[in-house]
Amino acid sequence: MDDIIHNINIIKERITKACHHSNRNPDSVKLLLATKTVAPERIKIALNHGEILIAENKIQELKEKYEALQDTPHINHFIGHLQTNKIKDILKHDVQCIESVDRWELAQKLHQRLLLENKTIDILIQVNTSFEESKFGVSPENAIELVQQISTLSSLKIKGLMTIGIFSAETEKVRKCFQLLKSIQEKIINLNLTGVEMNELSMGMSGDLETAIEEGATIVRVGTAIFGTRVYPDSYYWNENAK
Ligand SMILES: *Cc1c(COP(=O)(O)O)cnc(C)c1O
Repeated sequence: MDDIIHNINIIKERITKACHHSNRNPDSVKLLLATKTVAPERIKIALNHGEILIAENKIQELKEKYEALQDTPHINHFIGHLQTNKIKDILKHDVQCIESVDRWELAQKLHQRLLLENKTIDILIQVNTSFEESKFGVSPENAIELVQQISTLSSLKIKGLMTIGIFSAETEKVRKCFQLLKSIQEKIINLNLTGVEMNELSMGMSGDLETAIEEGATIVRVGTAIFGTRVYPDSYYWNENAK
């Protein structure tokens, strides 16, 4: 079970190196553990080692692990496709930030429910920077308008943007996705929208976190490189049709 701690140390070194490479402070990048398919006992190894930020893709898994993780301090984000019929469920499970808000209908229904419960929640807007149909996220050309619309909903606190990017061995193709997200962030910052913060850029995973950090990531989401390979293909989590 040592492997998890060993792997975290390696990831931290990679983050630090990438930050130095781009003249950034390593404290400006948060490590988020993508814990889909990972059992609570294994997640706890990472949390007890000092990690704090974890995220699930599916409400079902969030629910299943909730009890087991309750006594171990951590912060939950949500990084999967969120169906509107799961809104009540997600709000019951202490999710601090939904990184995958990508459509007006979802935002509206979330807002309605949050008003009823007298709560607010942090969100990121997920953008489909790879233009692949198989990936969720608002299209880059509609992202700014969506942020403007959602900024009118008082219970949703926009903190920034999230993207998955293209899955490619060609670094420059991946970099283009991250640059696109950064450029959308800059445009939104220039609009000075009331109530909208744009400090967070959640991008970069096990294979491409260096590139993401070079392009301004503040959250990198790492699963495989810490917990090992998963049984399910990512399409199971990233594409409704692949269930
Ligand atoms: C699984 C997942 C990750 C982590 O991917 P790895 O390649 O395992 O590091 C990051 N972001 C999202 C949205 C994911 O579903």
